[in-house]
Amino acid sequence: MLRIIVLGAAAGGGVPQWNCGCEVCAAARRDPRAWRSTQASIAFSADGEHWFLVNASPDLRQQIQATPQLHPRPGLLRHTPIAGVILTNSEVDAVTGLLSMREGSPFTVYAHDRVLSILASNSIFNVLGEKTVRREPIALDTAFEPALPDGHRSGIEVLPFAVPGKGAWYLEGKSHPGGGDSAGDTLGLRITEKASGRYFYFLAACARMTPDLAARIVNAPLVLFDGTVWRDDELITAGLGTKTGQAMGHIAMSGADGALAALAALNVKRKLFLHINNSNPVLLHGSPERATAERDGWEIPTDGMVITL
Ligand SMILES: [Zn+2]
Repeated sequence: MLRIIVLGAAAGGGVPQWNCGCEVCAAARRDPRAWRSTQASIAFSADGEHWFLVNASPDLRQQIQATPQLHPRPGLLRHTPIAGVILTNSEVDAVTGLLSMREGSPFTVYAHDRVLSILASNSIFNVLGEKTVRREPIALDTAFEPALPDGHRSGIEVLPFAVPGKGAWYLEGKSHPGGGDSAGDTLGLRITEKASGRYFYFLAACARMTPDLAARIVNAPLVLFDGTVWRDDELITAGLGTKTGQAMGHIAMSGADGALAALAALNVKRKLFLHINNSNPVLLHGSPERATAERDGWEIPTDGMVITL
């Protein structure tokens, strides 16, 4: 059985975001029934005992607290069920949670050389000592089986592949420590339990649908897909920012080229949005945008949601 826990479903900043007074953030502070969420990350496991994270958000400490499956096993002085972290990009909301895992438990960080080069060039990540926290490069279109801390096989195959995206915004206009070629900046993952063949796709950052991506995910049992913005220009029209979704490397939910349209004919059995920005009206219960997404078969997950395949 493949088990997936949504640790956080929100985009950078979370909901509510510390300095934001938008409708969604205000509702999240005011109304206990409103949607609140930490920044996007999932945990997955084949055996229910050893877990791997996809991305390590700045809210990771809080997410672990809220998730008993990730607590130390009773009776052990130092222990974590987290065997590894797979990074799909180098944005702040995907990597900085690693700094909350610095207390000497062994695990492995799996990331493309582009992302590893950024970790290597930022000395603060040296708090993760090389002897206990291995950094393992992963390559595009090359499946790997993340290992358990004792070296045993996890029984899970992860296939990373390139999806349209953007490099980390803090490197915009600056030289990338990994060089000029941007392939590998944004990864999608196909995660498969080897024994059963059950699988799902993790695509929390994706700038647009391509024929290659559509061919991969057609008929998939589960896709976690980029839900950053409803409209490409919503941050600008709401007065919250100066960038479009596209400028940030994120597809919109709505519109002719949006996620709803792009996945409508792909026969994906279960579709969840992940990395949902607090500007997105889909987060408001009763909003027409939410009704439209749900009518198209999409789910808006809450933190802690467990999915089994
Ligand atoms: Zn807000």
